[in-house]
Amino acid sequence: MFDCHTHTTFSTDSVMSAEQACESAIKLGLDGIAFTDHLDYDFPGELDFLIDFDRYFSVLEPVREKYADRLKVLISVEVGIQPHVLRESEEVIRRYPFDYVLASAHLVDRQNPYDKEYYRGKSKKEAYSRYLEEIYFIVRNLESFDMLGHFGYIIRYADYADRTLRYADHSDLFDMIFRELIDRGRGFELNTGTYRSGSPDAVYDIEILRRYRELGGELVCLGSDAHQTDHIAARFEYFAQVLRDAGFRYTVHFENRKPVFDKL
Ligand SMILES: [Zn+2]
Ligand SMILES: [Zn+2]
Repeated sequence: MFDCHTHTTFSTDSVMSAEQACESAIKLGLDGIAFTDHLDYDFPGELDFLIDFDRYFSVLEPVREKYADRLKVLISVEVGIQPHVLRESEEVIRRYPFDYVLASAHLVDRQNPYDKEYYRGKSKKEAYSRYLEEIYFIVRNLESFDMLGHFGYIIRYADYADRTLRYADHSDLFDMIFRELIDRGRGFELNTGTYRSGSPDAVYDIEILRRYRELGGELVCLGSDAHQTDHIAARFEYFAQVLRDAGFRYTVHFENRKPVFDKL
């Protein structure tokens, strides 16, 4: 198994060094780990999610070498897209030899769903739909990426009595997103970090996975979104079974931007 979504201290919100992450991944018996540190242009507020990528590669390449016989280390990036930062994000993606590019939405209309303000005055359906529209913008307009990140991000900080994101509530948007991904040979991650606590008020709606498969989708990966070592591969066994139940036989990870399949 590969954990395709982790953050080292190159992300200002992470406390985990790359070496610590590798040691933990080896203890957990993982085959590989992708470091997907944050690149978010024009992120409002105090935290800055920009990276000196020359330094990023000069620090992570020796880590990749050091662990090469025990763990596959994938030097990757999670790029946070807003419509007005498309071009500059694209330039960085093209300039560096990433193994893997994960594209995510962290902001909608300049608001962070991390912040309660985003949900104010919106029904659950409105709040979630607006987020999925932004996801649709990304999959349609970002030229160079491999997988779509955490569309379940929108439930993480919502405080509805039932936070679950359901296929049936947004079937048109999900279908549009999936068709676009499939047409362009891309897939999405199942972000287990969103469900880390196993909180009973938010389950993963397996119909999302079933519909993606029904439309011909095959590319899914597991990502923990760990920012600390004890979150690496969180709930992977549980979600591997969810994927099998939805009919998937393989997950995928990326090396040199090419998909590699791993049996479930
Ligand atoms: Zn993210
Ligand atoms: Zn992340």
